[in-house]
Amino acid sequence: MKPTLVLVGRPNVGKSTLFNRLTKTRDALVADLPGLTRDRHYGNGKVGNKSYLVVDTGGFEPVVKDGIMHEMARQTLQAVDEADVILFIVDARQGLTPQDKQIADQLRKTGRKVWLAVNKAEGMARSVVTAEFYELGLGDPMAISAAHGDGLRELIDVVLGDFPEASAEEDPDHPKIAIIGRPNVGKSTLVNRILGEERVIAFDAPGTTRDSIYIDFEREGKPYTIIDTAGVRKKGKVTEAIEKFSVIKTLQAVEDANVAVLVLDARQEISDQDASLAGFILECGRALVIAVNKWDNLPEDQRTRIKYELERKLSFLAFAKLHFISALQGNGVGGLFASIDKAYSSAMAKLATPKLIRALQLAVEKQQPPRAGMFRPKLRYAHQGGSNPPVVVVHGTSLEHIPDSYWRYLEHTFVKMFQLEGTPLSVQYKRND
Ligand code: GDP
Ligand code: GDP
Repeated sequence: MKPTLVLVGRPNVGKSTLFNRLTKTRDALVADLPGLTRDRHYGNGKVGNKSYLVVDTGGFEPVVKDGIMHEMARQTLQAVDEADVILFIVDARQGLTPQDKQIADQLRKTGRKVWLAVNKAEGMARSVVTAEFYELGLGDPMAISAAHGDGLRELIDVVLGDFPEASAEEDPDHPKIAIIGRPNVGKSTLVNRILGEERVIAFDAPGTTRDSIYIDFEREGKPYTIIDTAGVRKKGKVTEAIEKFSVIKTLQAVEDANVAVLVLDARQEISDQDASLAGFILECGRALVIAVNKWDNLPEDQRTRIKYELERKLSFLAFAKLHFISALQGNGVGGLFASIDKAYSSAMAKLATPKLIRALQLAVEKQQPPRAGMFRPKLRYAHQGGSNPPVVVVHGTSLEHIPDSYWRYLEHTFVKMFQLEGTPLSVQYKRND
């Protein structure tokens, strides 16, 4: 499991700038999403050979009244509680503020180790920058510049020092499904529906609060694993939705799954949180099925309107199948599994080299890559470079001159040739010149 870093600090200290630095933006895919890139709060990162997840709690900040943040948002505290590494960011230019002290007090109460980073320190003497922040009592402050990238490598080395490099685990040869979504969309209801009541009670074992529960089950004779982030085992206890929803569990479940089921509530507008989760799934390259829940008892004209809205807003997830279901009444769950199976086999598909090369040749015959000035790119052959998601590596010359639109055309060709559904496919290139 990758360690999770959580960024905490008052507004404007540079959390989102740091977040962007620490996370790689995978393809054009994520970069292209209008409105989504601005609001990314969850991401994957890698420095050297250490991989991690980053959560920017800036997204959970409560409305700031009169410039004073009254209390740290509950979700922030929960993320702090569950994270592996807590990174508290302060601002070198503004110096130590009363709000910083309040946050430090709250963080200290958690009893967790907190790392202190003094941002915007470019061009300033280290000792001068850090001096006043010792008062926070959180140990040695580290001077960084998120905007310029100064000190970030050292920062990651220090905070992740104790974490082993992620080892590639053997994946089971059946679907491992993460059922995710924001609070109250019906995740627990869906998990209960899928597993059946008796099954769930059998798993009423005490787990740690931060770990998701992995539940193996069979459906129509086929094995599956569900990664339960919603905590069905809490069933019967009165728990507030906000408390059983965990961003970190959600991110780790998506990372660890081979199919994500994103549950949306048909009765609510698509929210920033929905979009942010969708963006993270995309960034991970996970196979995806979308379950639009609470479809029961909706008038026909409303259904038509909701469908139209969703298809418009989720156009960036066009590869994912949309299902309209009622977890409460059990409608549509069978269809959901048909798509889960298909998405799984697509994500894990073995793409035979001869067939890939033929697809490449056909694509080029139909449409040559455009000339770029004096360069005429040549596509020679292709082979599979990975699974979950499938990666196709194309070899040739002058490939760096090929425009994105042509790579998307190839992507589309391979998806069609191998009849992949429910998974993104990534085309990468290797120059042989
Ligand atoms: P957040 O509210 O904590 O997420 O802060 P932002 O990342 O939005 O940054 C707030 C402001 O500080 C923006 O104008 C950034 O450009 C600026 N900023 C962020 N990091 C640095 C830095 O390392 N140096 C300087 N000089 N400015 C920075
Ligand atoms: P979670 O927070 O995502 O796990 O959501 P829950 O499963 O706890 O469901 C939140 C609320 O939505 C509960 O009151 C459920 O009874 C209700 N709910 C869940 N699924 C459906 C559904 O298909 N139709 C309707 N009408 N309500 C549902």
